[in-house]
Amino acid sequence: MPTFRFKALEDVFHRKPLRQTKPAAKISEFYGQNVFNQNIMREYLTDEAYEGVMAAITFGTPIDRKVANQVATAMKDWAISRGATHYTHWFQPLTGSTAEKHDSFMTPTGDGRAIEKFDGSLLVQQEPDASSFPNGGIRNTFEARGYTIWDPSSAAFVIDETLCIPTIFISYTGFALDYKMPLIKALSAIDKAAVPVCQYFDKNVNKVNATLGWEQEYFLIDRALYNARPDIALTGRALFGHNPAKGQQLDDHYFGSIPERIMMFMKDFETEAHKLGIPVTTRHNEVAPNQFEVAPVFEEANIANDHNQLLMDLLDKVAKKHDFRVLLHEKPFESLNGSGKHNNWSLSTNTGVNLLRPGKNPKSNLRFLTFFVNTIAAIHKHADILRACIASAGNDHRLGANEAPPAIISAFIGSQLSGLLDALEKSTKAGKLTPEDKTRLKLEIGRIPEVLLDNTDRNRTSPFAFTGNKFEFRAVGSTANCAHAMTVLNTIVAKQLEEFKISVDKRIAGGDKKDEAILKELQVLIKQSKSIRFEGNGYSDEWVVEAKKRGLSNLINTPQALEVWERKEVVKLFEEMNVLHPLEVEARVEVDYENYILKRQIEARISADLAQNHIIPAAITYQNRLIENARGLVDVLGATAGKKAATVQIELITSISEHLSIVKQTADELMAERRKIDAMESAKDKAKEYAEVVMPLMNKIRTHADELEMLVDDEIWPMPKLREILFTR
Ligand code: ADP
Ligand code: MG
Repeated sequence: MPTFRFKALEDVFHRKPLRQTKPAAKISEFYGQNVFNQNIMREYLTDEAYEGVMAAITFGTPIDRKVANQVATAMKDWAISRGATHYTHWFQPLTGSTAEKHDSFMTPTGDGRAIEKFDGSLLVQQEPDASSFPNGGIRNTFEARGYTIWDPSSAAFVIDETLCIPTIFISYTGFALDYKMPLIKALSAIDKAAVPVCQYFDKNVNKVNATLGWEQEYFLIDRALYNARPDIALTGRALFGHNPAKGQQLDDHYFGSIPERIMMFMKDFETEAHKLGIPVTTRHNEVAPNQFEVAPVFEEANIANDHNQLLMDLLDKVAKKHDFRVLLHEKPFESLNGSGKHNNWSLSTNTGVNLLRPGKNPKSNLRFLTFFVNTIAAIHKHADILRACIASAGNDHRLGANEAPPAIISAFIGSQLSGLLDALEKSTKAGKLTPEDKTRLKLEIGRIPEVLLDNTDRNRTSPFAFTGNKFEFRAVGSTANCAHAMTVLNTIVAKQLEEFKISVDKRIAGGDKKDEAILKELQVLIKQSKSIRFEGNGYSDEWVVEAKKRGLSNLINTPQALEVWERKEVVKLFEEMNVLHPLEVEARVEVDYENYILKRQIEARISADLAQNHIIPAAITYQNRLIENARGLVDVLGATAGKKAATVQIELITSISEHLSIVKQTADELMAERRKIDAMESAKDKAKEYAEVVMPLMNKIRTHADELEMLVDDEIWPMPKLREILFTR
């Protein structure tokens, strides 16, 4: 009798919604209370120090030692007033989670007493012993020195008695070992490239920020059921399990009412998020049972990303308190929708303009069109890098699967804007615009706001969609650090804007008026990038065929996608834009391969283990019962009548045998393959073998194990079934 499974189910039946400990207060009363934000800084810092930090935040001006000391003291005093005893440099290594090493403020004075101490040098730079963070060979372990360096643009915060200071993580030689540093460089690249283009329209623009509003999807399952499923607990996804009879067909979960136990969890975790100044606003059910989404108000991309990283930790922590476990995996359940992390992206200026929002007059519309068309052109030219930056073991299950963006990168802009771009493109006439052309174009452009107001068509199947005043990059995986996608997107758009500026200036130098030069260049880009625009159903088989005809890539798995980083032009682009050094690119790809291999390795081992010691024994136990029963019938009824009476039993016995032997043989094959792969040298070859050889074997084991689940007596089945995991609360 599989007591563990039934004990777990019983636990779940007895759960009660956890009451919030605090009475509901107005959010504004506690919002940001654990953040060393501008408001607090103004209170704690001298004017000089405050101005110094502000200049660092806005323009990246270096902070001098004196100011750093002042900030450190203020931070310490404030943090202690919030209950902190320790501090840590908080950073984002390439493992995909966040890391911290806590040190105490306490310093012995030598006369038996101690004081709380923290100065500028401790704030600005630390040396965590970080030899075990993945670095793709950049930092050999014998010179295992990595440094964390304060990022003043992202506010420090207090969690659980620790002051956390957002930092970048670099090697002794200055190479990035994290996700944050390249992001900051990409944000600086887009600022540098976008400002001069903005100045075609408004000379007052001197700063452009990329904005990011992520939408985080996740599954929530009960802790007891999670613990009773070694595959879910160790890999984040169900490697086995027959589809529940009821899945998401009825769509009754989406926007349905949120169950009370889950609501209590959400309230608690939103409160914690708000205390940390994470502006989460929306909560709702997603399409699949037990799937949910949380989204904030958008922020400057670096801060938004820190907040997303922090939120993923919070989800995990608060869920445990409520006897839940959060699954952030891109595809925990094969038959249900996967989880993504839509990255809503735009550009905003110091003058308060969203560059992807059409304006009120033809001039601001031309500005909108400039950034809109340049973004599409960047996506067209660099689609493969965009594909590569979202590649991961988890996302491979999601791209192209049920309700998910396909692995083909394309852009959706809606029928109205498509019509407009088509109209603009058609008026290209051998380089010269006639006066009629100009009038017509002005008219077209003047109509944009009207157009967008009723531009309600939404295409959920597109990986990159324009949604009225921003682009939404939907193919990012739910576990991903958004920084990777944001680094790539901002870099390629920056590159495109630089090229655009050069071409337009050339036209102006050749005698064109500014507006005309811009228009003509936009026409060229519209024409060039046409093949990336797709308005149809991205999940259809026809699209795969059509995309191929258009020459668009379809890189179906991580090993294929990662090869993009080896292309000379890709390496050169990131070097030129001063975002990633060629060595950094190489190191990152190596880490990506490693991560992919490790994930698949663990999955393959658990798949074989569970097949051998959970599934096969359960099937044999049941088969023995059937054999005993059939034998009994023969004993009682005699051979002929007994065999006849045992027809069903005998059929079942045979069928179980068939599945059993396939499961066993495939598990053996899987282990043999793994041994071969592990002996291989190159990470790339290993990853490829895991994708092409091991994955199909795992799938085969699953198919037959799931058949056995359907045949075997429910009482004997050892692991919680998917219907129990998804529908028991
Ligand atoms: P949907 O689920 O329909 O895509 P949501 O309201 O859940 O819409 O999410 C929209 C997201 O877009 C939010 O995170 C919001 O902050 C973000 N967003 C809105 N405007 C911008 C912008 N200018 N830049 C970046 N993100 C934005
Ligand atoms: Mg969205």
